[in-house]
Amino acid sequence: MPSSPRIAVYTGSFDPFHFGHDDIVRRASKLFDSVVVGVGINPEKNPLFTAEERCKGIAEVTADLKNVRVAAFEGLTVGFAREQKATVLLRGIRALADVEYEFTMTLTNSNLDPSLETVFLMAHREYSHLSSSLIRQIAKFGGDLSSFVPEPIRKQLLRAFEGEGR
Ligand code: ADP
Repeated sequence: MPSSPRIAVYTGSFDPFHFGHDDIVRRASKLFDSVVVGVGINPEKNPLFTAEERCKGIAEVTADLKNVRVAAFEGLTVGFAREQKATVLLRGIRALADVEYEFTMTLTNSNLDPSLETVFLMAHREYSHLSSSLIRQIAKFGGDLSSFVPEPIRKQLLRAFEGEGR
């Protein structure tokens, strides 16, 4: 009997998607049959980019990875994972400070759906300092974004902050 494909979901706000996120997706695409990047729609957050804009940017950046898809979702990660027929929740860990929160989320998610396994990939040392909020600040004040985000995202950021801070 053929085994079912190993599908991992990688969820987050990705507002914006940066080189740290990109590195996790690229590494995961070699470990799983497919990876679904889940762009979270959180009505309590006021994102810089709409879910549609974030999905479009990520799809462009990852277009060369044939086993990677991008989709927006609202609600619980476990619900999204089920919808995508995923068995793995993929997370990136930047530093020790991330572990406490991730520990809580992992226990909560496995409580909600014990069939899901959470897999962590450590951030690449070159990107472990990157965060979307830091990048939004740099973009706002007109800093050079080329070492933080892939080109399609840099263009989106330039458009979003056109005329500001310079
Ligand atoms: P959130 O939606 O939790 O505010 P993000 O959208 O930035 O945060 O994060 C999505 C996922 O990417 C999480 O698993 C997070 O730990 C991971 N991540 C964030 N920044 C980095 C980075 N610099 N390197 C590797 N993984 C990261």
